[in-house]
Amino acid sequence: MSASVQLRAVPPRTDERIYVTQPHLPPLAEFLPYLQEIWSSKILTNGGPFHRQLEQALCDYLGVKYLSLFANGTLALVTALQAHRITGEVITTPYSFVATAHSLLWNGIKPVFVDIDPNTLNLDPKRIEEAITPQTTAIMPVHCYGHPCDVEAIQKIADNYNLKVIYDAAHAFGVRTESGSVLQHGDLSVLSFHATKVFNTFEGGAIICPDAKTKQRIDHLKNFGFVDEVTVVAPGINGKMSEVNAAFGMLQLQHIDAALESRKKIDATYRRLLSQVRGIRCLGDSGETVANYSYFPIQVDADFPLSRDALYDKFREQEIIVRRYFYPLISDFPMYRGLPSAHRSNLPCAADASSKVLCLPIYPGLSEADIDRIVEVIESC
Ligand SMILES: *Cc1c(COP(=O)(O)O)cnc(C)c1O
Repeated sequence: MSASVQLRAVPPRTDERIYVTQPHLPPLAEFLPYLQEIWSSKILTNGGPFHRQLEQALCDYLGVKYLSLFANGTLALVTALQAHRITGEVITTPYSFVATAHSLLWNGIKPVFVDIDPNTLNLDPKRIEEAITPQTTAIMPVHCYGHPCDVEAIQKIADNYNLKVIYDAAHAFGVRTESGSVLQHGDLSVLSFHATKVFNTFEGGAIICPDAKTKQRIDHLKNFGFVDEVTVVAPGINGKMSEVNAAFGMLQLQHIDAALESRKKIDATYRRLLSQVRGIRCLGDSGETVANYSYFPIQVDADFPLSRDALYDKFREQEIIVRRYFYPLISDFPMYRGLPSAHRSNLPCAADASSKVLCLPIYPGLSEADIDRIVEVIESC
């Protein structure tokens, strides 16, 4: 008896909800030839043809030399730390997605939280030095919302104290500054290609590597530590990206410029419509020459009639699913809050941002009418 799966048509969504993001999906017909190729080759993973193609195509697109694809951004973060044998204490930001600090715990590293700059919401370089101890081996900053960190100030401190810098660049796909891709700073940078990110492969991620030797070590680490059929050099993880994900990445890459252009327009429209609203500040503009408009964070200040949380509730009542990135702070989660550096008094700017920032919907396909509906919620307060 053969098992069969009943495939039913998924009913179309009937709600009027607007989400903070929607994954960009090219027409399915465009993806079928890629699947056909995988079926013909029977190569499903382990660095197959699409994996190789996507690594090269992303290097070209991003303007970086070497890149290693991963099954997701979190495994890439865990492996980036392992690649440089980071131990002891690592200085990081509490104002990020929880995976940033989790990657440290997965390596047996103690996170040391340092406050953020209230303007960029990135790790404040002025606060890093006082957190350095003899156990400190690295700094893990985040280009929050794709807004570049003060990479030069951070590198200077790292050089002075002989620390590695591993950037969580999950938000920073395609971001450039005057000196080129923001991804070439530090010792390694890590991208996420999760469905909610600007460039997605359903799940996926990558480590940007400065040289071929580092890439090779990372390629070994993401394949259990195998260097050849019989030699294992480290307790590596299985972090490999499959051919289906890599093929989808190749297709996405054909649409990325249009997607970024669309995001740019939405960003400009929000800024225009919200510029006169008292108590609402549009964040961003940290000196990047090419932004990716991955998020649209606003700060709800004290002179706005509602608190951030009341505004969040009001949006939800209107079926507009905005998000409080990043609330709670990572340092407030149970596995971190006992750390001395997690204390609120150490992190006043992060605590403030966490209670005031709201991310508005932004994604290709968000219509002018949707934007009007969103802005109307704010204006009617
Ligand atoms: C999305 C994200 C991650 C995790 O990436 P995954 O691909 O979902 O594992 C890590 N850090 C930050 C800042 C993120 O936004």
